[in-house]
Amino acid sequence: MAAAAFTTPTLKSYPVIPLLQVGAMAHSRPYVASALIQKAIGFPAELVDDWQSVAIAKMGELLDKYRSLRVYMDACVHCGACSDKCHYFLGTGDPKNMPVARQDLMRKVYRRYFTLAGKHFPKLVGAVDLTREVLDEWYSYFNQCSECRRCSVFCPYGIDTAEVTMAAHEIMDSVGMGQKYSNEIIGKVHRIGNNLGIPGPALENTLQGLEEDTKEETGVDVRFPLNVKGTEVLLITPSADFFSEPHVESLIGYAKVFHAAGISWTLSSHASEAGNFGLFIGNYEQMRNISLRVREAALELGVKRIIVGECGHAWRVAYSYWNTLIGPFDWLDPRYPVPQHICEFTHDLIQRGALRMDKDANDERIVTFHDSCNVARASRMGSMPGGQFVIPREIIKVVANHFHDMAPETIRDATFCCGGGGGLLTDDLMELRVKGALPRMEALKNVVDDHGVNFMATICAICKAQFTKVLPYYGFDMSMVGGVHQLVSKAIRLGRND
Ligand code: SF4
Ligand code: SF4
Repeated sequence: MAAAAFTTPTLKSYPVIPLLQVGAMAHSRPYVASALIQKAIGFPAELVDDWQSVAIAKMGELLDKYRSLRVYMDACVHCGACSDKCHYFLGTGDPKNMPVARQDLMRKVYRRYFTLAGKHFPKLVGAVDLTREVLDEWYSYFNQCSECRRCSVFCPYGIDTAEVTMAAHEIMDSVGMGQKYSNEIIGKVHRIGNNLGIPGPALENTLQGLEEDTKEETGVDVRFPLNVKGTEVLLITPSADFFSEPHVESLIGYAKVFHAAGISWTLSSHASEAGNFGLFIGNYEQMRNISLRVREAALELGVKRIIVGECGHAWRVAYSYWNTLIGPFDWLDPRYPVPQHICEFTHDLIQRGALRMDKDANDERIVTFHDSCNVARASRMGSMPGGQFVIPREIIKVVANHFHDMAPETIRDATFCCGGGGGLLTDDLMELRVKGALPRMEALKNVVDDHGVNFMATICAICKAQFTKVLPYYGFDMSMVGGVHQLVSKAIRLGRND
């Protein structure tokens, strides 16, 4: 269903608890995947006849497989601590976008079919049958959760609504009610190797073009190698980095870092995508199959290290799941972590004095940093205190003179989602995306007003794409968002005489 016309919320000083607007987002739902898309990735083509029993069986399977899901269904005491922590609730006022209400959509069904009290006295315990109306409500509101995990930070029981949402997606996929955007992208990765469907020859042309552009800019032969065997590093990066602004600026930055440090590297046309939408639909088989391309490419190319580019959920999959899904990586160089984040890599080189930077090159930029959910809340702390909270900020301070953080309650592990994560970065959800960006836009406005910030750096392809689209709705210039390595690219010195 296409998004209806909507009004952009007014920016206020954060935090603002909205007036309740019951049912305000009940109409919001993304397109359902077509039969072709569903079949291509092994899901039923359309809603199956006996969908109710299939869905309940699937829920039982997930409850048995993931003890955490059962705990989440049972443990909530409805304390309300999470209720005002979701950006989609703050941006829309729809009470069903409170994390606890989102969980309750599944919890009520869980009680009906998987608890004694719910089976015998459903009304007493708030249990409901899984009707078509309930399924439609799931489709609407579980597609209004970006799986950002902010709510779980504030839950005294650590209940993770993102996992509930992922389970809901798995159940809906199992009955033939998949979401078009995510499932179409997964199909493209299986067929072509990346989310954007860029075939190998086009990728090769793009990289050649980048070599020419970078030579023109710097006078130096910075290489963008593809499928080169025996290099030290395999770089796995989001396919958005290959051609669209501002993403490509970061890819140029990575290439310059490899060049300046004298470290051989390559991209792979077989694994030309860091993103992994299998995570968003909660499907480990899809996640594994997509991840396998990375293992295959690393073995085929004979590299010694794997580094992941600027992409939030890609990093979460790589960091949290690769070892289980596609490990072990026992042939790689044991001196380096597997995987390694590009920011860890660059930061380490900076620490060792292996890179020369001219921070004045970014002098016109007054920078802030947006912590991307899947890095901030699902990542290693690394060898230094603060880990992924500190590393990108340290890099920025080395490559730019002016840096100001947003309000403390909106950064690090309390960061607000950009509004486009979790498979929601689709134009049919534009109203949700714009409204869900409200808390981040409010925090940004404050730092713009206070310090004249004109550049918001981030290390996630989805954040970059989402902000590029929604910043103008709030009166900001779309070009004020970019990557940390975009700043690195400008500041790094390559030749002897620069
Ligand atoms: S995981 Fe994020 S989007 Fe989902 S309910 Fe929690 S805060 Fe909202
Ligand atoms: S904070 Fe946790 S226990 Fe409290 S209502 Fe939210 S999910 Fe339930």
